[in-house]
Amino acid sequence: MSGTVGKPIFGAIEAGGTKFVCAVGSGGDSPLLARASFPTGDNPSLLMGEVVAWLKARQAEHGPLAALGVASFGPVDLDERSSTYGFITTTPKPGWNNADIVGPLRQAFKGLPIGFDTDVNGAALGEWHWGAAQGLEDFVYLTVGTGIGGGGMARGRLLHGLVHPEMGHMGLPRIEGDDFAGACRFHGRCWEGLCAGPAIAKRAGMPAESLPPDHPAWAMTIRYMAHALVNLTCALSPRRIIIGGSVRKAGQLGEDRFFERLRIEFRSVMAGYITSPALTESGIATFIVPPSLGDNAGICGAIALAQAACGQGADRKPAG
Ligand code: ZN
Repeated sequence: MSGTVGKPIFGAIEAGGTKFVCAVGSGGDSPLLARASFPTGDNPSLLMGEVVAWLKARQAEHGPLAALGVASFGPVDLDERSSTYGFITTTPKPGWNNADIVGPLRQAFKGLPIGFDTDVNGAALGEWHWGAAQGLEDFVYLTVGTGIGGGGMARGRLLHGLVHPEMGHMGLPRIEGDDFAGACRFHGRCWEGLCAGPAIAKRAGMPAESLPPDHPAWAMTIRYMAHALVNLTCALSPRRIIIGGSVRKAGQLGEDRFFERLRIEFRSVMAGYITSPALTESGIATFIVPPSLGDNAGICGAIALAQAACGQGADRKPAG
């Protein structure tokens, strides 16, 4: 651990629908000093109490934390002027509707800067610092798993706005011959309703990881994914699209084959309309990519949000 001596230490929380991962570390190449995970359960205040106790204990062990970062599942309230800033808002997850995440941390760590953003924007910031988006000012980060979420940067700033992007709920054209009703409880056949893990399982009648590589559900899922990525490319003009989450591992099909097929389908749907070296047969391999940080993108992202909260090394460029 000598490599971390003298560096500021941050507390990080990756708040997921299944578990909260907590860590303490300096980020970058420095190994995490400690890491723990807690089941999300259905009692937010109880869980936040456990998280606070864990972070306090690590602080006693390793020294004062410079800031906290929280990368959370959503939807979340990111408007600092709002009375529900730092809350998870309208989630269907039992117990978590209007759950205060930042409040208990503020209470317990008075005066400590706290960075708070969506899980995907957190992961995007992590990939920007240390992973597949280094050196890029415009990119998209997606997670495709239990749900589909998207974040990223435009001109070096994390994507925010009215609320935050909800890329997973965009509508997609119906592929001929597909009569699947979709799985989103709000929209049926939105992207999440067609391509998230539960949607694939509903379509195929078995979990995605059990599907044989030649199962037609893969072809359908990948074609819809391609439509969504083309929509994002047309709307946001990203220089790279990074896809995390469990679905990209693609069970028996495998991650490499999943990405190969997705790149081919993307070019087919794009039909040559946008011309860029990034979208050629050779260029596309570095345009649609898995995260370099793998499954650590989320917790690394939470550390990056903590760094940003105390003004260190994050997206601090003026809006432009
Ligand atoms: Zn939807």
